[in-house]
Amino acid sequence: MTDDKLKKITVALAGNPNCGKTSVFNMLTGARCHVANYPGTTVEVEEGLCHHDDFRITVVDLPGTYGLTTFSAEELVARNFLLDHKPDVVVDVIDSSNVERNLYLAIQLIEMDVPLVLCFNMSDVALQRGIVFDIARLSQLLETPIVQTIGSKSQGREALLDAIAAVANKSAKPQSHLITYGDEIEKSLSVIEQIIHSDHPELAEKYGPGWLAVKLLEQDGDILSKVKSKRLIEAINDAISKLKTIFRDEPEIVIADKRYGFISGACQETVKNTVELRHTTSDLADAVLTHRVFGLPIFLLMMYLVFYLTFTIAAYPMAWLESLFGWMSASIGSLWPAGGGIWLRSLIIDGVIPGVGGVLVFLPNILILFMAIAILEDSGYMARAAFIMDRLMHKIGLHGKSFIPMLIGFGCSIPAIMATRILENKRSRLTTIMILPLMSCGARLTIYGLLIPAFFPQNWRGPVLWIIYLTGIVLAIIAAKVFRLTIFRGEASDFVMELPPYRVPTSKSILIHTWIRGWMYLKKAGTIILAFSIVLWAAMNYPRLDPQYVTGLSPDEVRQAQLANSIVGRLGHAIEPVIRPLGFDWKIGAALIGATPAKELFVSQLGIIYAVSSHDDSSAMPTLRQNLRADYSPLVGFCIMLFCLLTFPCVATLAVTRSETGSWRWVALQVFYLTALAYIVTLVVYQAGTILGI
Ligand code: GDP
Ligand code: MG
Repeated sequence: MTDDKLKKITVALAGNPNCGKTSVFNMLTGARCHVANYPGTTVEVEEGLCHHDDFRITVVDLPGTYGLTTFSAEELVARNFLLDHKPDVVVDVIDSSNVERNLYLAIQLIEMDVPLVLCFNMSDVALQRGIVFDIARLSQLLETPIVQTIGSKSQGREALLDAIAAVANKSAKPQSHLITYGDEIEKSLSVIEQIIHSDHPELAEKYGPGWLAVKLLEQDGDILSKVKSKRLIEAINDAISKLKTIFRDEPEIVIADKRYGFISGACQETVKNTVELRHTTSDLADAVLTHRVFGLPIFLLMMYLVFYLTFTIAAYPMAWLESLFGWMSASIGSLWPAGGGIWLRSLIIDGVIPGVGGVLVFLPNILILFMAIAILEDSGYMARAAFIMDRLMHKIGLHGKSFIPMLIGFGCSIPAIMATRILENKRSRLTTIMILPLMSCGARLTIYGLLIPAFFPQNWRGPVLWIIYLTGIVLAIIAAKVFRLTIFRGEASDFVMELPPYRVPTSKSILIHTWIRGWMYLKKAGTIILAFSIVLWAAMNYPRLDPQYVTGLSPDEVRQAQLANSIVGRLGHAIEPVIRPLGFDWKIGAALIGATPAKELFVSQLGIIYAVSSHDDSSAMPTLRQNLRADYSPLVGFCIMLFCLLTFPCVATLAVTRSETGSWRWVALQVFYLTALAYIVTLVVYQAGTILGI
């Protein structure tokens, strides 16, 4: 073939110092090289030639670097060469005996979206040290081809050239988004990206907006000096100072931590060190916490501890709040004499205070649970939990990464469903969204918070709560498996479980995380729940009974009759035949109907029903519990919790499912299958419990 028929490409070799880069260069070029000067680069680079298939390949040996920041002249040269001269293929030479360290550069190259081949050099040394790779899997996780070589013995030359040719022949791949930097950072990144698009289209064109945004958050001097837009600079400074208060660290450090976490997760899965023992504290902790056998029991114990603390610590502030609301309605009741048809008094005492107060009482529970989740997240343990679950999750056709939204689901399904965006595979994502409502959310905790102390003695409370949560998890697993075998059949995609370094969480970050979620709960109490408390109060007091029917009855009997005649009473009675087999009566039926907009409303609803029909006017929680205990058995109490856990989620969750999946079809499926599941499971438990005489 004549020379001009050949496709001319440039291949740049990058790599850490002493990774054997020059040996690989010599292997490719036969050690024939000359020094070349590229415009714009101050350091001279070695350049050589080789041929493969119909390629005429110019190979450039870049200076060895650990990263692509602007800390050293070498790094800047290497980076500018990649950015300005855009080589057709970049080969990152990696010392296989020290991959974790070497992959840091690889991650940065992947983030730059350069056409990349990873050359795992020194594979003889790795072998000697007993390091074994699952190359196929690692290559999948990094979305990059990997070739193993021994540069000093020219082994692997053909394979490396084949890989180079394959990458050169491939058209540009879609932008990779290997690492997610977490909500706060991602949010800042997308703000910065948008401004780059509008204010600096030329930079976006040249470097890619995603990479630029990361570099700007990292306060990369070279890139910053190219930015002219004032608006962009302000946005960057804003983002950095915001992130600094959250993480108490430069965003740069947090981003680097994320990269190391990603690498460490990928290596944990694909690199086996059969001879050498790893020895850092983080590795030691991981050896225990992600242990094949002990990992899962430790995780279950950890969750148990969280629920136990949620109940024991929260009991005190909860009691204060209960007496506060009791005192409020009692004092309003005595200041504002009854009678005379003052409906506003009834609305406040029987509607608003028990409705909103009944929900607010659980704020301590919610805050403690959220705080525990935040601590587990920030310390790095959550990632380990997801890692442990990864093996199990694979069995049900999902990935460990699905477990992160599921954990968030213990707080609230809405952010959890949004968090499924980290799952790129559509089927995995839909499956996860479908099963997420089975993760018992904070709102449902209010129901347990009311019912568990009502029906179970002190030392049973923790275990019962734990069983409820576990039931949700187990059913979610079964449901996921069924979905993956039926409507969402298909391959699960690959993800790296990131293992960030363990760190002591900053109090600021925990408080912020707890507060954001707690505030959402408070807002709900002040808006939706207030509104529905009023609506429910009206639905329980209207239509009014004609006074002539109630003459001669005691005040209590009048109220009972009024309630039975009301809209809620009638609806409750209407569905009673259907829910009878579950052990529920019309009052529970009415409360279930009332809880459709938000799960907490179940509690407010019961509060209102009993405030209306109970003997004394104060609606303090202990009285409500006494009433419940008088009316139902612990088995029914348990069945109520089970049904509330399993049945379809609140309206807000359904709305998010609609917006995230883009179809009402999935909303309908969610409503239908969850309601069916709730009915069947509760039916079985109640009937079995009755037969067994529980
Ligand atoms: P550079 O600094 O990355 O350019 O590394 P060099 O190519 O100069 O290699 C550093 C040392 O590692 C030299 O002594 C090489 O002979 C040796 N070396 C390079 N590749 C390999 C390999 O695959 N296996 C072994 N055992 N030694 C290698
Ligand atoms: Mg060299």
